[in-house]
Amino acid sequence: AKAAGRNNYQFFVAAMNERANERLKLESALRRAVAERQLLLHYQPQIDTRSGRPIGCEALVRWQHPERGLVPPAQFIPIAEDSGMIVPIGEWVLREACRQQAEWNAAGLRDLTVAINISALQFQRADFPDVVARILDETGADPSMIELEITESALMNPGSEQLERLNRLIERGLTLALDDFGTGYSCLAYLKRLPLSRIKIDRSFVADLPGDTEDAAVVAAALSLARDLGMDVVAEGVETPGQRAFLVERNCTLMQGYLFSRPLDAGSFEAWIRGLGH
Ligand code: C2E
Ligand code: CA
Ligand code: CA
Ligand code: CA
Repeated sequence: AKAAGRNNYQFFVAAMNERANERLKLESALRRAVAERQLLLHYQPQIDTRSGRPIGCEALVRWQHPERGLVPPAQFIPIAEDSGMIVPIGEWVLREACRQQAEWNAAGLRDLTVAINISALQFQRADFPDVVARILDETGADPSMIELEITESALMNPGSEQLERLNRLIERGLTLALDDFGTGYSCLAYLKRLPLSRIKIDRSFVADLPGDTEDAAVVAAALSLARDLGMDVVAEGVETPGQRAFLVERNCTLMQGYLFSRPLDAGSFEAWIRGLGH
């Protein structure tokens, strides 16, 4: 039994080492990914179901790894956040999404908001509004068509510096959305102090609609809060007509999800839009 225990222990150590190695390998590969142009953005349409028209899209980062293929963000964003690499990666995402907005604008695809995910680590930096302003200048993007998605956890208990940072972004003409609403377990009283124009209901609360009564309650709460604060609401991860009907019935008409489209590369997104007769 003792020997078996030792073997188990050795197996455990070996498995842990392997995981640590794998992570180190990914980390050093990720370090090269920006310089070697292996990152790309996909764009997922956001629909106003009242008109059936797209109001914009969310930019979602992908990593085209030379051997591993297309790596989803769940596999590298956490590593990027732990190592601080999310800062240069996030800056690349901002620049690329802004460049794409300017290109679409020039090609006649106007009135499409491009929403960009901002990590808490990026937003915490005092120079974040300067970085954004510089990228807007460099790319010629229309700031009123750029929305920054900031997670509920990044905005929890904001201090005066953070509020000032948010206001500087607003003054530059951007709009702000609260991402992953409902996942932060936070007191929501602070929300009324934030200059947000939109709330995004997390996919985890949409998945089990219309059957799950707790999730239905969270969605109803988000909608009434948003209404009181004069914000609009986008429901994420809408996959079924049943979910759509539930949301529409409650006057939540802005949606994003596989029911409408998966995230698409820039060319396919443009073709998708033009296919709708935009
Ligand atoms: P998120 O911000 O909540 O983005 C929405 C995620 O839900 C995307 O996953 C999208 O593909 C997925 N999704 C959309 N509709 C549906 C649906 O109907 N069903 C299902 N099952 N999934 C749906 P993705 O692209 O894998 O991104 C995962 C997360 O990675 C994002 O969650 C976001 O937190 C993070 N992420 C992605 N791109 C960036 C980025 O550029 N910067 C940062 N900081 N984080 C990013
Ligand atoms: Ca998001
Ligand atoms: Ca989410
Ligand atoms: Ca549930």
